Amino acid sequence: MIQDILPHKLINHYDPLKKADEDSLVIVIRENDVMVRGDLYPRKSELNNGDDLTFLFSLEGENDYYLLDVTGIDYEAPEGYEFVNIREFRRSGNAKKHRVFLAYTALQLARWYRDNTYCGRCGRKTYKDDKERAIRCECGNVIYPRVVPAVIVGITNGDKILVTQYKTGYAHYALVAGFTEIGETLEETVAREAMEETGLKVKNIRYYKSQPWGIVDDILVGFYCDVDGDDTIKMDESELKVAEWRSREDVILQPDEYSLTNEMMKMFKEGKSI
Ligand SMILES: [Zn+2]
Repeated sequence: MIQDILPHKLINHYDPLKKADEDSLVIVIRENDVMVRGDLYPRKSELNNGDDLTFLFSLEGENDYYLLDVTGIDYEAPEGYEFVNIREFRRSGNAKKHRVFLAYTALQLARWYRDNTYCGRCGRKTYKDDKERAIRCECGNVIYPRVVPAVIVGITNGDKILVTQYKTGYAHYALVAGFTEIGETLEETVAREAMEETGLKVKNIRYYKSQPWGIVDDILVGFYCDVDGDDTIKMDESELKVAEWRSREDVILQPDEYSLTNEMMKMFKEGKSI
């Protein structure tokens, strides 16, 4: 999965006292694009404008990473570098996984800083906290990075699993999935999404693994469950174009091994304990 980057290790502890030096690595973001040369990020010394850098995180054994968000700013990439859409960066197959994971995480933080330039409570300009990763306002409002829970659901039916395809967007096979709503437990989200997308009742809901998915601020939580009773699928046609039972050998995996969804389909396909 995208976060499985051994032997690398992300150290996400925020240190407000850290200051970039010429060798610091900088992830330059412009909206949903990331600035790279191949899959490499620039050092501060290579930048035309390295003044307004915010500490992001560290990767064990490397220099610290800083953020430069140039969204809405007239900014020219230094020679050899180009802005690449983050989804293309992932799907090109040319980028090392840990660099894609760093880009996803940096993009989430960049968007969080950008979206909270002004206080949503009183409208004043906000400022960065000097002790923790938080944004503050004079009115007392404290804003932390937002992490949105969503579930991935592997519904099994004996030797079959329910696979889906979205009507628009991501073209490959997936599993039932959806966001947790206010006042809901994760298990309730699983049961509701299964019912909404496929018309199925489920039982034996069991946790598998989770995955940070920064591009949409998510923490994805994977569950397997069994169909309960009638296995007739009533697909939500507003969201899906495919929802069907597939036997193990007929499960088609995604083209890369980044997503929790893909790992869950793979586990089932290979007959591993779930
Ligand atoms: Zn305020």
